[in-house]
Amino acid sequence: MIPEALLTHTLRTAGRTALDLVYPPCCVLCKVRIFDERSVVCDGCASGLLSIDAPYCERCGHPLSTPVAACPACPGRTFYFDGAFSAFAFNRPLQDLIHLLKYRNRPGVGRFLGSMLAKRVEQEPGIPHITGVLPVPLHPIRKRERGYNQSLCIARGISDVTGIPVLENVLRRKQNTPTQTSLSPEARMANVEGVFEVARSEAVRGTTISLVDDIFTTGATINSCARALVQAGAGRVFALTVARA
Ligand SMILES: [Zn+2]
Ligand SMILES: [Zn+2]
Repeated sequence: MIPEALLTHTLRTAGRTALDLVYPPCCVLCKVRIFDERSVVCDGCASGLLSIDAPYCERCGHPLSTPVAACPACPGRTFYFDGAFSAFAFNRPLQDLIHLLKYRNRPGVGRFLGSMLAKRVEQEPGIPHITGVLPVPLHPIRKRERGYNQSLCIARGISDVTGIPVLENVLRRKQNTPTQTSLSPEARMANVEGVFEVARSEAVRGTTISLVDDIFTTGATINSCARALVQAGAGRVFALTVARA
């Protein structure tokens, strides 16, 4: 008799192989055939991702020209997170990938980007030991429109590589806010102020958490999340994003 787990695995593998014959896995960007089932892009497209390497501001993650240069992004800002790191510059292949993730129903792209972000984090000695990754929540209406929360997909990709648990349903978005793209930094801060609340403070008290989002632009959204976490008793809050705009 075949054990049930083995049978399920065999059927699943056979099903995937059959599916691969009909729809061979292709790069989501240039459509060439790819052979690494954990990836969504070919090696050529992946090589277009531009790492943000040191020096960068340890407070907000902004790239700096020299290690001692003053950060142009920090003055006048109150950040509630302890540090921030963005893995890649928001250049062309990444812009296209994030577009697929947010507007073309490709949650797998988020998981892939999360794994790429995690690999960058593992190379950075200055990032503290994190006990949970917490995706920036979407309002339920926006989530219904998209079908998923893209930040949760990224957080799962981080967890795949690092084993750090994803903290789900801990932070909640109380209000649906208008899109931030056309707003000034000050307007962005006001737009998201007080829109997040911690649903389960016992899950964050005394922990070192990393918030996870797709893009760090002015940091307003992540900062608003961090403020809610700090007020709920989080020990340290860090911010990880795939891209830096
Ligand atoms: Zn490609
Ligand atoms: Zn800075």
